[in-house]
Amino acid sequence: MVEAGDIRRERFLREPVVKSKGGLKHWIDALADWLEERFEARSKDVYVVNGGLSVSGLQHVGRLRGEVVIPEVVRRILESRGLQVRQYLTLYTQDAWKGKEGQRRAFPDPESAKKYTGWPLVRVPDPKGGPSSWIDRFWADFGPYIKDFTDGKVEVVTTTDMYRGKLLEFVKLSVARREEIRQIVNKYRGRKPYPPSWIPFEPRCQNCSRIDATEALEVDFENKRMRYRCRSCGHEGWAPLWDGKLNWRIEWVGVWWALGVDFEPYGKDHATPGGSRDSANELAVKVYGIMPPEGLPYEWVSLKVRSGESDMSSSDFIGFTPREWLEVAHPEVLRFLILRTPPMRKLSLGLHEIPLYYDQYYRAERVYYRVESTGRREEDILLSRSYELSYTRGKPPGTMPAQPPYTHIAILAQILPEELWESEAPRRLQRSGHLPEEPSDFDLERVR
Ligand SMILES: [Zn+2]
Repeated sequence: MVEAGDIRRERFLREPVVKSKGGLKHWIDALADWLEERFEARSKDVYVVNGGLSVSGLQHVGRLRGEVVIPEVVRRILESRGLQVRQYLTLYTQDAWKGKEGQRRAFPDPESAKKYTGWPLVRVPDPKGGPSSWIDRFWADFGPYIKDFTDGKVEVVTTTDMYRGKLLEFVKLSVARREEIRQIVNKYRGRKPYPPSWIPFEPRCQNCSRIDATEALEVDFENKRMRYRCRSCGHEGWAPLWDGKLNWRIEWVGVWWALGVDFEPYGKDHATPGGSRDSANELAVKVYGIMPPEGLPYEWVSLKVRSGESDMSSSDFIGFTPREWLEVAHPEVLRFLILRTPPMRKLSLGLHEIPLYYDQYYRAERVYYRVESTGRREEDILLSRSYELSYTRGKPPGTMPAQPPYTHIAILAQILPEELWESEAPRRLQRSGHLPEEPSDFDLERVR
């Protein structure tokens, strides 16, 4: 059941502009109001917002939405109100590589890649045979660009590192209180309850490397190791306590516990009442005595192609990456599209529609500078505020930047050799009247 005070009842999840604290506000300002009130009850010196990703394959732009951009904008709004906030992005690098068809196809010989099934992501090799790893290969299209889509103050942490550090203590705690954990988890598991002997930790098999097939049998705290039996290869032995992972519901709480998380959005699949987020919340309160973070359910981002659309998916390799977006468009335009869409509304994106997105962005810009109005107050608030918050550094300039049409720049980019771009492109745009005679830095930014 969804109780009073639960965010799942809030109108700003689906309505772009709502009444909050007296006035009509953009949904993300209403969310910030909602959070500020709850943060006050926590009364901390520094609040923590967090996002989470598992690098299971293509790191598409959909993952920027709920795990990076929304928390970043919320953080900056709260900071502007005088709160101190830290932002993390947690990579679940100990998760098992599932060996889905799309993942196997990333290897030149998909059949032989089956041998990595069940391995922790962090140990799976680079599918292209390079010196890096699976994670390095796919993170390269996402991680280095987070700073372009944000103010650059997002700290990336991995569960692999955490198990060697702060989570080690949490693992011990979880093993000690496993009976309480089991009773709570079993309430949510329904038909497949864990038996009384269950230990909520999955060591990595030291023989076949699977992390999804072992059964923990015995814990030796003194030597920080765990005895296990592998259901896949039959091996029985000891694994170090850092070389494995907690059952995922408990790991989720472990990350909150280790980082002190106060706000963390979650994909809509976790949002069902009685679903996984509720179970993690109950564990946090009853077993570990911590206040679970405030949440925010969000809808998926789908990939629009000319023939239709489908949900972006990491392990199915559907979507495009932040790197690909930056090759053809400014990060502010993507931020604008994310901000214009309430979190529980679907966002559909296609690279072929970028000229259209620029038209929409420029229109919002004109509304912001009061050169134009949509004629509807709520729509003006939505566009103007989404535009304002699209800036990754600071605020929009005092005067409206030039609006060179995207298609015009795209054509120029095809004609001009790359080495002439910086000197020649602004000149051509001045001649065609798309840039002023004395362009500002903001004007020139449009041509980059
Ligand atoms: Zn094994």
